[in-house]
Amino acid sequence: MAETEAAKVTFKDLGLSDRVLRALEDMGFEEPSPIQARAIPLLLAGHDVIGQAQTGTGKTAAFGVPIVERLDPKVRGVQALVLTPTRELAIQVAEEIGRIGKYSRIRVVPIYGGQNIERQIRLLRMGTEVVVGTPGRIMDHIRRGTLKLDKVRMLVLDEADEMLDMGFIDDIEWIIQNLPTERQTALFSATMPDEIKGLATRYMRSPQHVAVNPAQLTVPQIEQYFYEVRPTLKVEALCRILDTENVERGIIFCRTKKGVDELAEALQRRGYLAEGIHGDMNQAQRNRVMARFKEGQIELLVATDVAARGLDIEGVTHVINFDIPQDAESYVHRIGRTGRAGRSGTALTLITSREFPQLRLIERTIRQRIQRRPLPSLADVAERQREVLKERLLRVLSRGKLGFYQDLARELLDSEDFAAEELLAAALKLAMGEAEPVPEVPTRFGETGAEPGFVRFFLNIGRAQGVQPADIVRSIATQAGVPGSIVGKIDIYDRFTFVEVPEDVAAQVLTAMQESTIKGRTVNIEPARKR
Ligand code: ADP
Ligand code: MG
Repeated sequence: MAETEAAKVTFKDLGLSDRVLRALEDMGFEEPSPIQARAIPLLLAGHDVIGQAQTGTGKTAAFGVPIVERLDPKVRGVQALVLTPTRELAIQVAEEIGRIGKYSRIRVVPIYGGQNIERQIRLLRMGTEVVVGTPGRIMDHIRRGTLKLDKVRMLVLDEADEMLDMGFIDDIEWIIQNLPTERQTALFSATMPDEIKGLATRYMRSPQHVAVNPAQLTVPQIEQYFYEVRPTLKVEALCRILDTENVERGIIFCRTKKGVDELAEALQRRGYLAEGIHGDMNQAQRNRVMARFKEGQIELLVATDVAARGLDIEGVTHVINFDIPQDAESYVHRIGRTGRAGRSGTALTLITSREFPQLRLIERTIRQRIQRRPLPSLADVAERQREVLKERLLRVLSRGKLGFYQDLARELLDSEDFAAEELLAAALKLAMGEAEPVPEVPTRFGETGAEPGFVRFFLNIGRAQGVQPADIVRSIATQAGVPGSIVGKIDIYDRFTFVEVPEDVAAQVLTAMQESTIKGRTVNIEPARKR
């Protein structure tokens, strides 16, 4: 792409100071992104700017660079104010401006709800040139008189559409009315709803529009797929996807905070490195989760839209919409967490049959088809497990340094008590640790005498062992990780029980229930034979 464009602008061409050029070089920015190339010169020239570009296109530096360049070292007090929709974004933007201003001796203070206000007051009292904050807490400080904005010469509204969605529009207007009218205003947004245009007309002076790809909302490097799943089996479907996809670092979106908690817990129970993040957690907790995710101690971050808004985390390979987003804008924001800074990524969306219209609406808005993918089967999961095991083995092999084990291997092989194949198989099983491989299970059960759509199982325990229907349901739900509500007819006899489960989970139930115990008895389970 870059090669075909005749003369690529450089940061130097934009007329930046050596201090900022050096900082950008330290940050690894080689050339300005399109929105930066167009917005930075306008802002440096003192224009008001409305910038519209998809997520991950570098809007932060598009206003961060001009902020740093236009600060007046002779002026004491806050000269630039940036409003962001969330605390995470406030911190992130403040950090990025700090990095851009590394050699320019500027101070940046993030101001957000949830953090101790006294601490913020102390920081503000020490003096700062740039404040980045969420509207609510900024208003708090203005009212208390702890944030003086009479020296502000530049106002930036970052992710304006998000702030609008979160109901901050009145707060923003209130804050603007507390700012000097002699100032520069920049507004950045991925989309331009009417309310944002209205805000621009009321509070900006002949703003220059800079739009990058307004028609195509999505980031093209992202592969997008959807899976159709039954509402009650979403967790199971997600696990199969996670077990077959090569997810190094993934963000999983849920609609509600409760959904986040439940899913994070369900995933943890199944041994995934997952943690949830949402607005009910305090800031310290959220920071801790984010740090663990960035460091790779967590592989899966389960989040609400609000908590993940604007997050910029390196190397997110997958965005998974566990719940389909409410609208196309939200979809674009979510999937924009991957494929950032030109890297590739995968976006997967789980939908139930009733959600097809919503999916179509998203497709129409982003003008792109989202491909359907069949849900991985248990056989796919097993296949993937084999691959992973093989890869791990070959990796160990290529690293060498097998001395100690090699001696032992020779000894075992020389003893001639076992075949080489058996020995290797045992070693592989050992390497799998606690995790039992997915065994090959029949997916067709033939006639078991169940209701249509169900499979009937025989269990070798019954009334004599004090078994109640609830014991059966609980055991199936916890062992197989399916909702108890899907369990069908249960017939308990003296020494055995019949239970019916839907066909599409039958194999899974059969596998999971092997060697499980009910009422202290090891259960034998097998498909019933039609009488
Ligand atoms: P947006 O606000 O448009 O969603 P960000 O400002 O968060 O995007 O930038 C996305 C990512 O790209 C960040 O990691 C940022 O550091 C990086 N980035 C921004 N501009 C450049 C650039 N010119 N060169 C390389 N990386 C960049
Ligand atoms: Mg941004």
